[in-house]
Amino acid sequence: MKALLLDLDDTLLDYSGGVDESWRDAGKVCCAPAGVDVETFLQAVVETRRWFWSDPARHREERVNMPRAWQRIAAHALSSLGVAHDGLDAALSREYAARRRAVMRLFPDARETLDHLRRRGIPLGLVTNGDASQQRDKIERFGLAPYFEVMVIEGEFGAGKPDEAVYRHALGRLGVAPRDAWMVGDHLEFDVDGSQRLGLRGVWIDRPGAGLADSPVRPYRIIRSLRELTTQPATP
Ligand SMILES: [Mg+2]
Repeated sequence: MKALLLDLDDTLLDYSGGVDESWRDAGKVCCAPAGVDVETFLQAVVETRRWFWSDPARHREERVNMPRAWQRIAAHALSSLGVAHDGLDAALSREYAARRRAVMRLFPDARETLDHLRRRGIPLGLVTNGDASQQRDKIERFGLAPYFEVMVIEGEFGAGKPDEAVYRHALGRLGVAPRDAWMVGDHLEFDVDGSQRLGLRGVWIDRPGAGLADSPVRPYRIIRSLRELTTQPATP
């Protein structure tokens, strides 16, 4: 391993934790005064979210503008309950964004692993899909920029994983061949299969221990914690 690329959301950062609680809390502030039952609203959001993110084309278009995506999810959920959104969708999206931001944390193993890899002099790249301002805000808040020689953010770069242009760009900046680089992430298609198609070694972080189930993707390695990367010998 001469260089290591890392995904951000749900790899370094606990991004999905607290999603339902944040929608519920937003609902308490915005829906309850409008006479909408909060748990009914939350159930509608859960169903809407599943539908909204299930379409790859919609996913690609919407994930680079998350405030808009959240507002659309809120509007669709309210419509499915027969409630006029009338500004309620925008208020819910704002409340949700604030709550979500407040509960977001790095995983406990993230900073110590980054520190360890930096001490060993392994060049690091951050490769993240999504909204430029949201991703920049996370990088800034958690002081991540100093760890990385290169950061490729979909909303800035104009392409996202699993497009191999993303991996080519990151490795070009690091001056490392694909076969000498590892990519670590939680998404089997974007992070593991996408990088392995170009010749990198894809490491799947399976924090919950879900296993591959019926996925055809074969990661080079499967880890449960980023700490497992600190025992990997580097090739100078
Ligand atoms: Mg991820």
